[in-house]
Amino acid sequence: MHDFVTEGGLPYRATPFWLSLAGEEPEGCARNAHGVPIDPILAQALPSQAEAHTSHLELCDPLGEAGNTVFERAVRQYRSRILVRATGQCFLFCRHCYRRSLLPSELHFLDGAAIAALSQYLAAHPEVREVLVSGGDPLTASDAQLAALLEAIRSVPRPVLVRICTRAPVVLPARITPELVDLLKRFRPLTVVLHINHPKELSAQFLEKAEALLQAGIPLHSQTVLLRGINDAPDILIELFSTLTLKGIHPYYLFQGDLAPGTAHFRVPLSRGLAIYEALRRELSGLELPRYAVDAPGGGGKIYLPEGIAGRKADFWLLWASDGSIHEYPEEK
Ligand code: SF4
Repeated sequence: MHDFVTEGGLPYRATPFWLSLAGEEPEGCARNAHGVPIDPILAQALPSQAEAHTSHLELCDPLGEAGNTVFERAVRQYRSRILVRATGQCFLFCRHCYRRSLLPSELHFLDGAAIAALSQYLAAHPEVREVLVSGGDPLTASDAQLAALLEAIRSVPRPVLVRICTRAPVVLPARITPELVDLLKRFRPLTVVLHINHPKELSAQFLEKAEALLQAGIPLHSQTVLLRGINDAPDILIELFSTLTLKGIHPYYLFQGDLAPGTAHFRVPLSRGLAIYEALRRELSGLELPRYAVDAPGGGGKIYLPEGIAGRKADFWLLWASDGSIHEYPEEK
């Protein structure tokens, strides 16, 4: 694992496997005017000076999780679902993701008390039908840690769907061992949502591990962040989503970028995102087309695009959240 802290205080981490997917060596790689690598693999991993530029439009807590935290590391934005941030660790600290700036105190895996609190919460809230296990990347934990968490979820006497959100099969395919596949299989109903942004990430090693998970009866979905200079072209996304579908992975979400600090250079103007999505709609079948969505700035959950657009006010889009609240999302240059 390559690991250090940048001059700006943000952590860098990438696996040698991830870096091997790039078309050139990280050192001295070609970079654009913002200092961001041109190669889509390196662009997601290597820090750049552009991260030092924060905008007044950006938010420290872009998803408004603090206001929806029901107990340590557990966020509830919807009646039927709860999100558990199992760990702050990742195999890759993606440069577009605000989780790269988590505090050291948030990096460890959930302890016994937090896991017990989760099973008690689920027992007391029968309306919760789904637990999203996110992070960081939950598959950075050991099999024993994951088993303890999944056993706690399964201790409630009703079926609860478990959703594991991870980049591990893409970033470190070796983590998907036969033992891990068996463990996940044991805790079905369980689905895995893979974060994948570019066709270059679909390595032979990744596809082999994805097939192992599918063979074990674990459904796979993908989520993709629309990223400037990385995948903001219809032909790239068409290749990505059609290939995923052929491999049995359902393209689930295409996300408009969050307003995370120091990530403006990755965000695609919403007007362009809408035009790209329109091009995808024309070309992709219903099975291949993910939903385009944005997390409501400051909380309120997911807003589907273009359906959630309520109007425009100067340089801001007005977006309807499912709870009826209106949120502003900037139209950036
Ligand atoms: S939480 Fe996911 S997207 Fe964010 S840095 Fe970690 S692996 Fe990347």
